[in-house]
Amino acid sequence: MSVLVYIEHVDGAFKKSALEAVSYAKEVGTLINQPVYALSIGEVAESELENIGTYGADKLITVNNAELKQFLNQAYASVIAEVATSVGADTVVLSNSFSGKGIAPRIAAKLNAALGDGAISLPQMSGDSWTIQKTAFSNKAIATEQLDGQKRVIALTPNSMEAKEHPTSMTIESYQPNLSPGDLSTVIKDIVRATNKVSLPEAEIVVSAGRGMKGPENWAMVEELANVLGAATACSKPVSDAGWRPHAEHVGQTGLAVTPKLYIAIGISGAIQHLAGVSASKTIVVINKDPEAPFFKVADYGIVGDAFEVLPQLIEAFKTYKN
Ligand code: FAD
Repeated sequence: MSVLVYIEHVDGAFKKSALEAVSYAKEVGTLINQPVYALSIGEVAESELENIGTYGADKLITVNNAELKQFLNQAYASVIAEVATSVGADTVVLSNSFSGKGIAPRIAAKLNAALGDGAISLPQMSGDSWTIQKTAFSNKAIATEQLDGQKRVIALTPNSMEAKEHPTSMTIESYQPNLSPGDLSTVIKDIVRATNKVSLPEAEIVVSAGRGMKGPENWAMVEELANVLGAATACSKPVSDAGWRPHAEHVGQTGLAVTPKLYIAIGISGAIQHLAGVSASKTIVVINKDPEAPFFKVADYGIVGDAFEVLPQLIEAFKTYKN
């Protein structure tokens, strides 16, 4: 028996959330005394592959078929389930990323396994009955989910666990999967890159702005602050609805839910629908000229002031601090 962890990459470099998943899988493997096998699909740089041993994988399995160059839900789910069966993995771990959300239920169905998606904690185990914690009701509650049976698939929320180092002397071996025509029935014609330089769902710092910025012409200073901090940019719904920013940046109940270490909200009122997607951030800083803005109620730090005066000062201060 073993734990299999699927590790996602972008353009041949493993995502931070993938490293978190390997480290999580290692901790699960240690709890149940089982080896950890990591699975990489597609073309990945050699140095990236070797680095996986740092996070606790005992063996790395690589699948590098030409048909699997681009991420495909059906095909990737089939390959992961096939490899899990071949290495006797009762537990499959992956990141609850966009791609992870698409494939975790498919893998669980293929393996006849329980699905724990959106996990934010290590499992508690009592024989074949495991429980995990996950956020519920737009981050307003923590749910405890019970995973019964001999097999389970756990999708870990990005940024919820550290990618801790557990160095191993990892071996690497390649695997040739049996793909069926049905697995390859989706064809990706084109990939359009989002504007965010730092991936928003995975970002440790998010600089987010709302209608208080008055118009798209004023976003240069939001982007500059994000650049100085190595942050991703986000926005409120009306901002993306008005076309000031791309929809991919819209956070909240009807947009992305994010869990960064630091969320900086500029000129955003803090409506309940916005908070639904950001309140799980570890530290929230609010900049708003209205001292009565609801966002201040959930802020760890608040700056009452005009964004157009505060932002240039913050940018200067962070630049000085960095130098
Ligand atoms: P506003 O409410 O207009 O607030 C602007 C803020 O900027 C104010 O607090 C103001 O004091 C401040 N401000 C103005 N000028 C300055 C300045 N110069 N310096 C500093 N501060 C300044 N919204 C989301 O964001 N995400 C969602 O997913 C979402 N889903 C929704 C789903 C439903 C079903 C509904 C009904 C609404 C949803 N909304 C969502 C909309 C939400 O209710 C709010 O209308 C929206 O979040 C408000 O956006 P805002 O804070 O940018 O704008």
